[in-house]
Amino acid sequence: MSATGASAYRLGLMACHTCGKLARPAPGAHEGWCPRCGASMHFRKPNSITRTWALLIASVILYIPANVLPVMESSSILGSQTDTIMSGVVYLWVSGSWPLAIVVFVASVVVPLAKIIALAFLNTSVQMRSTWQPVQRTRLYRVVELVGRWSMLDIYVIALLVALVQLKAVATINAGPAALAFAAVVVLTMVAAMSFDPRLIWDPLENNDGRAHA
Ligand SMILES: [Zn+2]
Repeated sequence: MSATGASAYRLGLMACHTCGKLARPAPGAHEGWCPRCGASMHFRKPNSITRTWALLIASVILYIPANVLPVMESSSILGSQTDTIMSGVVYLWVSGSWPLAIVVFVASVVVPLAKIIALAFLNTSVQMRSTWQPVQRTRLYRVVELVGRWSMLDIYVIALLVALVQLKAVATINAGPAALAFAAVVVLTMVAAMSFDPRLIWDPLENNDGRAHA
């Protein structure tokens, strides 16, 4: 018995993403429609590697303005002030609210960057048809997906931060352009994680049966 067992893919079967039915495509056809619910069926997510790269590159590009541009602009009688995520973290740290400084730093700098690096690593390994540590790589993907569900936490943290500052100061506070870039980074990494097909991790471990991979 092989380490991975028989997969539906190797048996020429594909599972419907909508209703879960296992079906065999028409002879000669590579893909088709579910005979039960009519949804389109694929052996693997179409163009998964290319799509994941495109979304990751876009999120890397937007990660720069998210961290460099002001995330909030406050103005009072004393003058106006703009804060980036990092200057906000430094302000919180210096003013003694270091637990909040750590939360903001982890949620808005560390987590998005770690997600981008993890997905880039997974996508590279799949593209190179690596057979290295598939269980660990699958686990890593599961963590990225789990974090993705909590990603909006980053946005809540910023909202909380704005609210806290607003309570302290008699000033007008607006979200800066970085907030928009930051929200885009969160959404793009979430979609990138969704477009990655973890089954591709296991495909190179199957006996080479000559099938073309999507
Ligand atoms: Zn179906």
